[in-house]
Amino acid sequence: MSNIVWSVDVEEDLHTGKHGGIVLGLRRFEKICDRKKVRPVLFVVGTLVKKHKSLLRRLHRKGWEISCHGYSHSRMDDLSSSEKRKELERCVAVWKKELGFSPKGFRAPQHSIDGETLDLLAELGFRYDSSKTPLNVLQLLFFPSRLGNWLGHFFSWPWRHRIRPGLVERPVVGLGIPPVSLFVRIFPVWLVRAYFGFLGLMFSEVVFYAHSWDFIEMKASGVDRRWSYKLLLRKLEKVMR
Ligand SMILES: [Zn+2]
Repeated sequence: MSNIVWSVDVEEDLHTGKHGGIVLGLRRFEKICDRKKVRPVLFVVGTLVKKHKSLLRRLHRKGWEISCHGYSHSRMDDLSSSEKRKELERCVAVWKKELGFSPKGFRAPQHSIDGETLDLLAELGFRYDSSKTPLNVLQLLFFPSRLGNWLGHFFSWPWRHRIRPGLVERPVVGLGIPPVSLFVRIFPVWLVRAYFGFLGLMFSEVVFYAHSWDFIEMKASGVDRRWSYKLLLRKLEKVMR
């Protein structure tokens, strides 16, 4: 399954706001990627770049892509036009200053992409967005108050496509449930392989994603107690083949 994009949203740990997922979790994920010769895409929150720049630079040298998950992890659709511009301009500036290059890709926090943000991404030289989640039911369950945003996503074009001049959309597409860490945690490896394989045949690429905190123990998370991070890592290694 060569058309799977292995992506991780790199942010502070859920519940605690610590950096365990970045410092410890990514190291665990990296070991698997090394063994499987996988080079993932990291969508990193801008405020974390300076503190973790040596890690990000090292991974970039290995061929990992270091893309952008907003500057302050705010929902883009909650911001005014000028705040959106400021968020994205700060990202480009911090990438250039700390890492020495501009971010290519963008994933909006909680998939909160909107038309204005897409315009700005194109203007600021981003190459692609990977925020849209066509055919995704889970998103409505997690964020029921965002019905309008969800409807726009659900019916968006599920194949990779040009969404603005110079800007491509690479949607996180799945049939009801997107190919995310929760899916891999819950379902058996054979089913995950079959599902990813099927999505790969139907769509131009399969965009998998996890969060940096998916790779550490989360004591406050019922999901992690039932389907632990260790199980997730073991299964990911098998699915990567
Ligand atoms: Zn996020």
